[in-house]
Amino acid sequence: AAAAAASHGAEDAPHSHERGPGQDHWSYKDRPEWASRYPDCGGAVQSPINVDTARAGFSPQLRPIQLSGYSLPSKERLKLKNNGHTVVLELPESLAITGGYAQQYRAVQLHLHWGSPAEPGSEHTVDDRRFPAEIHVVHYNTKYDNFEAAMVHPDGLAVLGAFLQVGPRENPYYRQILEHLYEIQGEGEEVFVPGFNVAGLLPANLNLYFRYNGSLTTPPCYQTVTWTVFNQTVQLSQDQISVLVTALRGDDDSPLQNNFRELQKLHGRHVLASFQTTLTSVKQMPPGGGSSSEAGAEKHSSSFQAGDVLAVLFGVLFAVTALAFLLYIHKHRSQTARLDSPTKSKVIYTAATTEENTA
Ligand SMILES: [Zn+2]
Repeated sequence: AAAAAASHGAEDAPHSHERGPGQDHWSYKDRPEWASRYPDCGGAVQSPINVDTARAGFSPQLRPIQLSGYSLPSKERLKLKNNGHTVVLELPESLAITGGYAQQYRAVQLHLHWGSPAEPGSEHTVDDRRFPAEIHVVHYNTKYDNFEAAMVHPDGLAVLGAFLQVGPRENPYYRQILEHLYEIQGEGEEVFVPGFNVAGLLPANLNLYFRYNGSLTTPPCYQTVTWTVFNQTVQLSQDQISVLVTALRGDDDSPLQNNFRELQKLHGRHVLASFQTTLTSVKQMPPGGGSSSEAGAEKHSSSFQAGDVLAVLFGVLFAVTALAFLLYIHKHRSQTARLDSPTKSKVIYTAATTEENTA
């Protein structure tokens, strides 16, 4: 229950209306003043950051993120709220991270950050590229009693972050949230929505991600978040992104837009990657293992080029080998029983790799 009470806050932590005016009233317009009222906001371990993929260190210890309990029955009802800073979906405690972190974490809530019809608004950037929007799923370490107790400890929180991009079709999971935004247009409004598979809001590939130590990206900016930022993006239709960006109102009844914090300095922190970024950046071009839009388009196409070159290369290799094999058969005019030539498996392996890279 304590966690549920805290969940309005969470990563967009304790926010105004539960605490009374004055104490927690902040806005994105007064970002320069955050640090004077919330000292951590001026700290050296803040979020969000730019992820420089070429400098991210590969760490084989970063195992795939595993989720449990994320698929909720539709009879369950989840509170969806416009808190004036973002849209928050409260999550039952049955949702948990069971792999990819050294400890166990329970979910509290998820929310989104976005820009405007004209500008992208993800909080993190990758190689200086900003994406249209970003989802944060906030969890707390189960060794603490609840979210509020956990949020003040260095290992207290885990946030899963993923980038939202424009894709060719409607995303049915995001539809579960977006179709209700018109019911909560005003600050403080809330609605209950049927349960669904919350994992569908995250990328399909939970193996490839960046990891670093940072903070809540809103006051009080506690420096207690172990961040996971997924390499693969999530695709929504253009219409869905438009709804997200235009549906809600914040303070003063103005459109709730550009609810992202400016990039913070690393101050010597290292970003780790669960995969070899230098290899991928040459062969595949990171972020977003698939998908396109805006700046994404040219990188995506270059990944296709790299894949094409490999495909052609191995195609030629295979053809040459096959030709030699046929000539051999022809010369000897004998049936050969060996059909499983090693070159065949080589081609299959390459195709799988290429597919994974561009999926
Ligand atoms: Zn957030």
